[in-house]
Amino acid sequence: MILPKNNRLTPEEVTVITAIVTEFGCRIQPIVGAVRTIYAIVGDERHELMINRLEGLPFVDRVDTIQSPHKLMDIKSDLASHRVKVGRVTLGEELLVMAGLCTIDPKNPNYFYETAHAVKEAGAQALRGGVWKPRTNPYAFQGDSRSLDILMEGSRRTGLPVDTEVMDEEQLRLALDAGVQILQVGARNALNYSLLRQIGKAIAGKPVAVLLKRGMHLGTLNEFISAAEYIVNFGNPNVILCPRGTQPGLDGYRNHPDESITPLLKERTWAPVIVDPSHSVGKAVYVPACALAAVAYGADGLCIEAHVSPSHGLGDDPKQAITPAVLAELITRAKALHALRRSSPTATTAS
Ligand code: PEP
Ligand code: MN
Repeated sequence: MILPKNNRLTPEEVTVITAIVTEFGCRIQPIVGAVRTIYAIVGDERHELMINRLEGLPFVDRVDTIQSPHKLMDIKSDLASHRVKVGRVTLGEELLVMAGLCTIDPKNPNYFYETAHAVKEAGAQALRGGVWKPRTNPYAFQGDSRSLDILMEGSRRTGLPVDTEVMDEEQLRLALDAGVQILQVGARNALNYSLLRQIGKAIAGKPVAVLLKRGMHLGTLNEFISAAEYIVNFGNPNVILCPRGTQPGLDGYRNHPDESITPLLKERTWAPVIVDPSHSVGKAVYVPACALAAVAYGADGLCIEAHVSPSHGLGDDPKQAITPAVLAELITRAKALHALRRSSPTATTAS
């Protein structure tokens, strides 16, 4: 739909827009109003170059498209009936809690093993553990490939699937070869299109899911969903959207918690949503409230940093990780709230 700057276009201007849309196999249908005329584009209007050329014209205010730019991720796509499974949990049916360390310490693997058992005991159905870490400070601990063995050993000991972040092709290959079931794309790589493409290609035909974090710099919903489209485009639709807070942070919180985008995502896409309250608020004491808010907003799951002894953790754990005891109580409440929402989708409160 072309909206002109003035109330209607001159015949010469109509000739210019008609010539452009014709190149892309479309035609123009004017919709004449008493005051204003707008110009519908009839045909597949999703050609980015066509829209850019039209929006570049001095007499065009803007071009609105009715068709979704994400053909596969759209709520109306054929994939809408697809259900993503993680371990034994089908997302949407049961609340999935994924919990564990921010960063595995290769010198102290027992922290990971003990945490893995404890979060399973608390009710988590998947583990998280950072092997390679995207650190803002280049001198901070960057993770260690040896932690991959520890991660997989934790998975074997508990029987739970594991999630870990990959940032490049080499890490992607190592993680897949080791049998990691959930690949995490971090907030810093959320719009790294060549990495998203590599992941999409690498997981095609494999029983692997991707936890795609939202870009940290207040990206639009369209940007977030389009990033997922890059992955599913290669054939594996097991993608999960993960709001994790945006920058600038809310005074007192590490990031600006964004669990409230969950219903907006669900109006636009079929993809399940797992919220990360840990990075959203950045402090253990605030994590349970943010997690419950996420479930109230309709999240299908939670990704939470937990540690048996947070003060002995690496990376974010000393500040953000909750203990297994706090996690156990949180999971009980979150599951009750999830059940309440499923029985009454408009329910928004916990009690
Ligand atoms: C993490 O999960 O530990 C992490 C670094 O997350 P994010 O990419 O959201 O900052
Ligand atoms: Mn972390």
